[in-house]
Amino acid sequence: MYPYSYDATEAKAHMPDFIVIPQERAQLIDLVKFCNQYIIPIVPYISGNNIGGLCIPERGGIIVDFGKKMNKILHVNEETMYAVLEPGVTFGQLKQYLDENYPNLRYSYPFAPPSAGVVGNVLLSGMNSMSAKIGSMADSINGLEVITADGEIVRIGSCFYGDGESDLDSWYCRYPMPDLMGLFVNWQGMTGLVTKCAVQLWQNLPYQKHSAALVFGMREVAKVLREIGKSEVVDDATMFCIESIKMMFEDYKTKKFPGEPDFAVLMPISAKTEKMLEAKEEILENTLKKLNEEGIKVIGIDLGEFSQLFSLRTRCAIDLPSVVLPIYVSSGLTWFGSYAPAHKLEELIEKTDEIYHKHNFSPMIYGKTMKSGHYAVFRLMANYNKYEEQEEVKELMNEIAEVCIDAGCIPYKTPIWLTEKLRRKINPGWLNLFEKVKKMMDPNNIFNPGRWNFNY
Ligand SMILES: Cc1cc2nc3c(=O)[nH]c(=O)nc-3n(C[C@H](O)[C@H](O)[C@H](O)COP(=O)(O)OP(=O)(O)OC[C@H]3O[C@@H](n4cnc5c(N)ncnc54)[C@H](O)[C@@H]3O)c2cc1C
Repeated sequence: MYPYSYDATEAKAHMPDFIVIPQERAQLIDLVKFCNQYIIPIVPYISGNNIGGLCIPERGGIIVDFGKKMNKILHVNEETMYAVLEPGVTFGQLKQYLDENYPNLRYSYPFAPPSAGVVGNVLLSGMNSMSAKIGSMADSINGLEVITADGEIVRIGSCFYGDGESDLDSWYCRYPMPDLMGLFVNWQGMTGLVTKCAVQLWQNLPYQKHSAALVFGMREVAKVLREIGKSEVVDDATMFCIESIKMMFEDYKTKKFPGEPDFAVLMPISAKTEKMLEAKEEILENTLKKLNEEGIKVIGIDLGEFSQLFSLRTRCAIDLPSVVLPIYVSSGLTWFGSYAPAHKLEELIEKTDEIYHKHNFSPMIYGKTMKSGHYAVFRLMANYNKYEEQEEVKELMNEIAEVCIDAGCIPYKTPIWLTEKLRRKINPGWLNLFEKVKKMMDPNNIFNPGRWNFNY
């Protein structure tokens, strides 16, 4: 039970009372009915990679570990491009399965390790390697099967017809019914147990290239990221500050020296033909050229070539899913992650960089442009020593959160210290509705109790 009592973050550890490793849905229906009757907490768990303390059993009870045995890829519909998954399927598993059986299809992968879960990621609105095109991963959910607090099975999406098992070829889209998916997405397992999930897949285009842009200027990178997003030719655009890139080669305490670029932006592109790839590259080059003409110093490089020439470690950040080393160089890892107003990135980068220096941490500033530039993801990470820097990292994250929330950022994968803060800032109407929905869905507060500070 001990490994389930903590995670990489500074969240306080708490022991569970039991671990349940289910193999099939019927076992879970009995378990939910039993726990609802005797008011025993159930904490759903896939691999605990959420970086928010979200699977720590605040009130003890039962951890339901889906990762070990409920991890089957149930179906792939090649024509309409989706996969129906059990909750425990990992990114590594899905990638291998598609490569071996459906090489014409691909998924969108995070910088998370290959052992992290696909379903956990979409349920938490993850942002992955195709987010410049498709936005939040939650948008790619076609359908869900969920066990609710009374032990009932609910199917949502186009799979909702019929009272028996669904036809796995019927999970092709999410709309146009009232969107009940919202009762389960971003709820951190507080409203029910997802037992099946259909996620969209995309065509695996044969021509792929990894470009990067080196940007000189802290504020300037914000415009570079926005313009790359709006160019609509990249699958993804992720900015990493130079200190975090250096962590790939050095210790987790790194420094930027005068004259060095401030950020690198990773930009994978893909195309159906060579000509299409060339056209996309040309658009990207022109975007960078225009930025240079406007006085922003930005240099484009071929990251594939760079990694072959200088550092195979760089490939970790290219060939996702993989273990991206800079995110892992010390015993603790935490972050303030948020969906952010892209037009405020200049201010956000400048202020958060100052906070890192004030607290003596190497900056790990990370951002993405989402869905052709409509919004951004802004994530401030910290590698830290779990045994020596626990209090320092808490102060760092707290100050970063204050600044980002004041600028309008919306945190995701919210740990408890953060939801407490958010409760003081969100409008009362939203909070009342949120409370009513939680109580309706989970009247005895058995599902992941303690999250979002629910106390009833
Ligand atoms: C180094 C690192 C880098 C990362 N980079 C990224 C990134 O670039 N982009 C990104 O989006 N994410 C990133 N992540 C986070 C990670 O991808 C997701 O949060 C993750 O896939 C979900 O983790 P998991 O599968 O282990 O789920 P868990 O952490 O086990 O669970 C996640 C949440 O879902 C709930 N839950 C689990 N199973 C169920 C179920 N069956 N029904 C209902 N609720 C359930 C849990 O209670 C919990 O609240 C990163 C993580 C790490 C460690």
